Amino acid sequence: MKILKYILLGAAITITSSCGESWLDLEPSTQIPTDTAIQNLSHVEYSLNSIYNVMRNAYYYSGRMTYYGDVTGDDVQANGLTKRTANYYLMGMTRDTGPSTHWSYAYQIIRNCNIILSQIDNLEYDNDEQDEFNDLKGQALLLRGMAHFELTRFFGYPYTKDNGASLGVPIVHEVVGVDYKPSRNTVAECYDAFIADFEEAASLLSPAFNKGKVNKWTAMGYLSRAYLYMGRDADALNMAIATINGAESNKYALWSNEEYPTIWASDIDASNPGEILFEMVNTTTESPGKESMGYLCYSSGYSDMILTSSFYQLLTEDANDVRAKMFTIKSKKAYINKYQAQAGENIQDANIPVMRLSEIYLIAAEAAAKLQNRNETAVQYLNAIVQRANPENSVEGETITLDRVLLERRKELFGEGHRMFDAIRNNRRIERTDVSVSAISSTSHYELLPESKSFDWTYFRVVLPIPKAEMNANPNLVQNPEYGTN
Ligand code: CA
Repeated sequence: MKILKYILLGAAITITSSCGESWLDLEPSTQIPTDTAIQNLSHVEYSLNSIYNVMRNAYYYSGRMTYYGDVTGDDVQANGLTKRTANYYLMGMTRDTGPSTHWSYAYQIIRNCNIILSQIDNLEYDNDEQDEFNDLKGQALLLRGMAHFELTRFFGYPYTKDNGASLGVPIVHEVVGVDYKPSRNTVAECYDAFIADFEEAASLLSPAFNKGKVNKWTAMGYLSRAYLYMGRDADALNMAIATINGAESNKYALWSNEEYPTIWASDIDASNPGEILFEMVNTTTESPGKESMGYLCYSSGYSDMILTSSFYQLLTEDANDVRAKMFTIKSKKAYINKYQAQAGENIQDANIPVMRLSEIYLIAAEAAAKLQNRNETAVQYLNAIVQRANPENSVEGETITLDRVLLERRKELFGEGHRMFDAIRNNRRIERTDVSVSAISSTSHYELLPESKSFDWTYFRVVLPIPKAEMNANPNLVQNPEYGTN
């Protein structure tokens, strides 16, 4: 085995967490040699598998990267001040205490994608391998774009706040050395960069189901999401409709009302991919461990996060809404039960949906609601979600507002990492208040900073501070506003 040239932005990476695993303890298969290792398409596939392994980590999509957007919002909260989710929930981060993993894991993914992309065009392969080549290159482009997208929304203000004029993150598209000290690009430059990756990926990727991996519909879904985040509503609508139509002509379909409560435990395959456009496939032998969403949400596990009382009231206002079955009550608290164990597995090995077709319907509805003269379209896509939740309900004949769509997004996507981002990109407030509900009478907010209790996109903590180790290692990085003195 070749000596790995372990290259990472900023070089010094630390983890400011109480969790056991260290960043540097990644198993060998999560690292890619920087040169001469990739000599054929099998090597590319092997390298991509190592990138998916990083993404499945509990510090990435199987855990932190997912729950951050929930516990910083108003629908989900930490279940105690010593819980793993508490620091995000409290939103008391300073420039010295900000987490490092959102940055370090994303840049490790980017680095590994860049190694593949720097070599893939030089590979020799047979003519009948052209589709495979295209698909593998498309995967590397999409995964690189997704990591830049996540970095931009964690560290950069919403595009819609200032048309992307504020600072995002460094765009890294080359294999760089340890002494590389990039500056931050603007949010607008970041959007241009990852949208270009998504577009090229969508043109290369296979439309076929690929278990635990991205395909053409994932790329188009990310394009839809990126356009929506930018306020390019006509593009978001067109791309969302193209994604829905394309995916549904390739066996994807919204889950039914009947299957909804338990289908999260299913182990999907090509014959019935359901509505999962991309998921982390965790197994007992490739387990993210107990820091994963399954065990964190489990009432008899780490029981880390619970529904807030205000959201519980919202979610249960229609008792026949199937989504009101997606929690379990124990000791007067409501625990999310979307992360269900697949057959024969432990709860911590629950798969993690990263993008569902339901989200694409809601993107179409939201974009249409923001456009002139597209109310019928907004009704069409919103109604699919509303009627699936309760066949007795309908929004036919209604004028669909942004707030109506956002309400449906909260009910559909809670616990899946969206809420805080959805509120701030639309310049809506997060209000963390308590209501009295007897079924969950043990639930109330813990003491929050006043500015973390009610905030909008003007609050400096809607973005994370650039990690301290990166700031120390790279004088070209500028810290986010107000973190300089806090
Ligand atoms: Ca699993």
